[in-house]
Amino acid sequence: MPQTPDIHGHCDPRFAAVGETFSANFRDHGEIGAAVAVVVDGDPVVDLWGGHADRDRGRPWERDTLVNVYSCTKGMTALCAHRLVCEGRLDLDAPVARYWPEFAAAGKERLPVRWLLGHRAGLAAVRDLLPGEALYDWDAMCAALAAETPWWPPGTAHGYHAVTFGWLVGEVVRRITGRSLGAYFREEIAEPLGADFRIGLPASEHGRVAEMSPLPMPPQDDDRIHLAALTPDRHPVRVIHQQVEAPPRETDADLVAISFVSGFAPEAYRVARRYRAQGKIVVGGGPHVTFAEEEARLHSDAIVTGEAEAVWATLLDDAEHGRLQPVYRSAPRPLDGLPTPRYDLLPDRFFIKRVVQATRGCPFRCSFCTVPSLNPGFRVRPVEQVLADIRYDSFKHWWQRKVVWFWDNNLTANRPFVRELLAGMVPLRKWWLTQTSLDIAGDAALLAMMRESGCIGVFFGIESFGKASLRDAHKTQNKAEKYEGAIRELHRRGICVMAGFVSGFDGDSQADIKAMAGDCTRPGWMCHSSAS
Ligand code: SF4
Repeated sequence: MPQTPDIHGHCDPRFAAVGETFSANFRDHGEIGAAVAVVVDGDPVVDLWGGHADRDRGRPWERDTLVNVYSCTKGMTALCAHRLVCEGRLDLDAPVARYWPEFAAAGKERLPVRWLLGHRAGLAAVRDLLPGEALYDWDAMCAALAAETPWWPPGTAHGYHAVTFGWLVGEVVRRITGRSLGAYFREEIAEPLGADFRIGLPASEHGRVAEMSPLPMPPQDDDRIHLAALTPDRHPVRVIHQQVEAPPRETDADLVAISFVSGFAPEAYRVARRYRAQGKIVVGGGPHVTFAEEEARLHSDAIVTGEAEAVWATLLDDAEHGRLQPVYRSAPRPLDGLPTPRYDLLPDRFFIKRVVQATRGCPFRCSFCTVPSLNPGFRVRPVEQVLADIRYDSFKHWWQRKVVWFWDNNLTANRPFVRELLAGMVPLRKWWLTQTSLDIAGDAALLAMMRESGCIGVFFGIESFGKASLRDAHKTQNKAEKYEGAIRELHRRGICVMAGFVSGFDGDSQADIKAMAGDCTRPGWMCHSSAS
């Protein structure tokens, strides 16, 4: 379990609750490292820090550890502009073009400085596709924004200029002072105040910066807690999701099993190298290992391909008796008899912990999808066994007891099965989410049962609006002309829709991709993800 590290600094007794919550973040929520400071009327009443500045917990968090503060930098940028106002060098009602002549393009001749500071300039984005490096090129970004046509009539509406604010206001500061925003801020504000805040950090300070650690999402693949439930009691198991907790630098485990998808392969191999160097047995498994056996074998003492359940007990027995094989090929097995996953091993930091599988596989064969080869066929679990998982309620927080996330590829593919399951769920009064296919929108009886049993959200793989692309993807069950109506049917029943899109099919042009971005941001749609 996460430990509470030594907390340094001081905390006025009147603010003891702040100190307690700060500690609880480490103990209960897997905090890695943090600092908090509170100043009341110029009096610092809380100044605490603790933990580590890196995900591997090798570097202590110090009093002067620096963190990326994202949009707080907008406040510092605005401070620079306001200082120039105080000095009489900047007029908030003057046109931006008075200070930055190129900005007068595309009808912006009279746009006042005030609207840049108030996010009312209509310049929240750049339409042209720019190379990725442009983000680091001040002149390129300012030139693009100076040439841009406002996305709405300036001054008529407010829209958060999340990414462009720094260039827009910062360039005005630069034109007036002849100094970069970072230099002006440092010389006129930070240094006189003794403030350790930088806009642009010199390499000499990089060693003081804390690493970013990703936010915890629901456990995306629950094979770990399934395998833990299949592990004989004589082997204690610890489950670590790197989403919320870094693997310890050293472990007393005899065997470390690492499951991962392709995007995490480099990190998985790094962790594998570390544990193998300590003499641990490392076993690789999961989708990437299944599709890249030879590569995975270079980093593992053994690998498991396919669904691991059928070979897990044999592998553990072999490891225990010194006869571990390099490859365990697992064939899909019937799902009857799978134990309830070890939810107790998941950190409480996961908002949703009850991830349930009622079915496995998918009757469709979309060309880009790993499911048909990774989980061939379509199998269902006995309904009563699925309901037993859903009845498991030993969770700390009420929302963890309330919400069920079906981690199925297509829960509704077998209608008699899903009807029986939903009927059993009604009295349990849960909220649930799943992945499913668009054809459910035409099944009013099923939609009614979904609503009655507590469905709050579904994920659809919409993929594309283009007939040719859908044909490419073998996704002929999707009909673009029916998307809107299908989503409306779900919304009418209070069920939220998340949708996945794929851009970059062989026949997709840039214009198709732009059109798709427009289509899927129409009011009433909620875009979840896209990949290319
Ligand atoms: S419908 Fe979804 S899960 Fe099934 S094959 Fe297609 S993409 Fe994969």
